[in-house]
Amino acid sequence: MQETLKVVILGSGAAGLTAAVYAARAQLRPLVISGSQRGGQLTMTTDVENFPGFADGIQGPELMEIMRRQAERFEVDFIDEDATAVDFGRRPFEITVGGRALRSESVIIATGAGTNWLDLPNEQRLIGHGVSSCAPCDAFFFRNKEVAVVGGGDSAMEEALVLTKFATRVTIVHRRETFRASKIMAERALHHGKIAVRWNTVVADVLGHTKVTGLALRDLRTSAVEEFPVDGLFLAIGHHPNTELFRGQLELDEQGYVRLREHTMTSVRGVFAAGDVHDHRYRQAVTAAGWGCMAAMDVERYLEGH
Ligand code: NAP
Repeated sequence: MQETLKVVILGSGAAGLTAAVYAARAQLRPLVISGSQRGGQLTMTTDVENFPGFADGIQGPELMEIMRRQAERFEVDFIDEDATAVDFGRRPFEITVGGRALRSESVIIATGAGTNWLDLPNEQRLIGHGVSSCAPCDAFFFRNKEVAVVGGGDSAMEEALVLTKFATRVTIVHRRETFRASKIMAERALHHGKIAVRWNTVVADVLGHTKVTGLALRDLRTSAVEEFPVDGLFLAIGHHPNTELFRGQLELDEQGYVRLREHTMTSVRGVFAAGDVHDHRYRQAVTAAGWGCMAAMDVERYLEGH
């Protein structure tokens, strides 16, 4: 008979790995299903300057490697694949990964969030040919080129600043005339010599056959559309929760985020959620880690009660 695990953690970002450390130290022998984007969103970023404990800052991918090593120290098991199905209707719960069905008494969902796209006619076709959502991954390809970044939040500022290391000019295209980004990030971008801003403007389409050659920009005050030559477009317009797998299995809100019922417990008793998959308000590495800690503590209490 197949072993029933005490807890399976879905996701290996800051929330999942922190939950793993806490659950392992509570002797729950957690299994982490890392997902194909091992390490989560922080692996797509560069300098992390606001995670406590790193006085000089740390690179996102390095931070996630350290978190993983910390979890491995406590003998957490990992499967570096995506779960393909879950069944929260039966007990123990069933999670399918790599064609195999695992059984677990409890689950922590820490699958995080993914990039939003603009859904422009030519956007998807040109991904990898000038369209990107990850400046730290792709900035290098834009040495001595001109690029645009869409968005007005911290991500947009960060993407723009990363791109200045390679590109000759970075234009932030934002639909309003104030940034949503934190003051410090906005000022860094606004005072950078290579960064320009197009306020009250949206991207109507991406131009180019085999690679990006420009953008059709629409001025929202006049509705005028103009061609704007650039070699690259970076999307930084927010994220959506990775909850497709859970649709119909537990309660989600209108935007698809997992709804919590009691502390970190979801609408299904024994299934917990941590990090960006339910939290669209704070969405920080440190808050995700905090949620991971809370979920693991809630799992421990839940299992004690059974
Ligand atoms: P965000 O704060 O939600 O900002 C998204 C931006 O995209 C907004 O400016 C929004 O415009 C714009 N936008 C959304 N949909 C759009 C559309 N269809 N067309 C054009 N523009 C659109 O997302 P984020 O920047 O990814 O940040 C998410 C969270 O992570 C935040 O809490 C942020 O503080 C945090 N974060 C922190 C750091 C850091 O501290 N280093 C770095 C990255 C992210 P409006 O402003 O008009 O709504």
